[in-house]
Amino acid sequence: MRVLLVGGGGREHALALGLADDPSVEALIAAPGNPGIAALAEVRDVDANDPSAVAALAVEVAADLVVIGPEAPLVAGVADAVRAKGIAAFGPSAEAARLEGSKTFAKEIMTAAGVPTARAHTCTDAESTARALDEFGAPYVVKNDGLAAGKGVVVTEDRDAALAHAQECGRVVVEEYLAGPEVSLFVVTDGEAALPLLPAQDFKRVGDGDSGPNTGGMGAYAPLPWAPPGLVDEVMRDVVHPTLAEMRRRGTPFAGLLYVGLALTAGGPRVIEFNARFGDPETQVVLALLETPLAGLLHAAATGTLAAHPPLRWRDGAAVTVVVAADGYPASPRTGDVITGADRAGIIHAGTRRAADGALLSAGGRVLCGTATGPDLAAARDAAYALVRDVELAGSHHRTDIAAAAVEGRIAVPD
Ligand code: AMP
Repeated sequence: MRVLLVGGGGREHALALGLADDPSVEALIAAPGNPGIAALAEVRDVDANDPSAVAALAVEVAADLVVIGPEAPLVAGVADAVRAKGIAAFGPSAEAARLEGSKTFAKEIMTAAGVPTARAHTCTDAESTARALDEFGAPYVVKNDGLAAGKGVVVTEDRDAALAHAQECGRVVVEEYLAGPEVSLFVVTDGEAALPLLPAQDFKRVGDGDSGPNTGGMGAYAPLPWAPPGLVDEVMRDVVHPTLAEMRRRGTPFAGLLYVGLALTAGGPRVIEFNARFGDPETQVVLALLETPLAGLLHAAATGTLAAHPPLRWRDGAAVTVVVAADGYPASPRTGDVITGADRAGIIHAGTRRAADGALLSAGGRVLCGTATGPDLAAARDAAYALVRDVELAGSHHRTDIAAAAVEGRIAVPD
């Protein structure tokens, strides 16, 4: 099949690796792609957020399947525009992508579906925000209601900082703090049938020991040696299937990738958030372990035939990815610096571009990540850090504790 991959970050480079590896893929085209993806696919220029431009490109390249990576094109209706041309699209409709596009909508669906999540209030002014903060108490959790590239959430003990973030955002969701280790579970679905991928954990805070501000994600690993047995079955039963059923009941079935972000609290798993697409950087580790051909799986979800898809197969061992971020990330990343040591297997490009002379330059906050597998988590971790050590980028920084607590058996689910 001919596959058009939309997007140009680390997640899309990981998707490109999986798609290029699938023997059923005869041509892989990526738009806009990045220098890492360019080694695997024909790269085309497109405004990924313009539904008619992406649909026209899908027709032009005779795509049999369009895989849409990032959230913004989904919320803009790119999947709808592609499907309107009679081409299969992996990714939810704009209506269904509201599960990610609006935190208030996601809460509404969870309430209607009886999905366990944090209690929350949507607030639009200082007075109602202050009331909600005082109702739930510290630590305070304030979320921008719209898309914010993973950076619209403030979790703080500082009530004034919580109020200031709310004022900056305008419309926010204030919610109770959920204590417990976090899990990212990706579920491939055609709206009815649903296949969970391996649970992973990512690292949202910029600094070691979960210090500093939230980011798009600084690293990830899978699988989770500390996850309770039965976790995935429980989440499928209590979260995923009720959510999919509620979306069908509303006439806006969710087909694509449902990302369930969970906290494993003393009261059981609680949903922190839904996303409408693969998470970045968890995709890098989850797909590194997936043995089942990726294009066939995504095509089945895009064409409503997932119930007939064979069970997923996974490689033994573990995978770890470590993000290298630009100087100043996340507040104000510096771009345009030369990167060396990145042309190696396992380096996944996120925010890079090629200069006219062929030099690799930084072009975003999260620049690249070192992704490695190994027979166990400790070995995968060592291999990922070995990759990162050889990358040179002035002023760059990375966390040194990705997967460390899991390797050392220091993660416990509260009971
Ligand atoms: P979100 O964009 O909703 O995933 O939030 C980003 C990060 O903020 C999450 O990965 C959590 O680490 C943290 N967070 C969000 N909501 C909560 C909550 N209710 N309780 C504790 N931490 C939260």
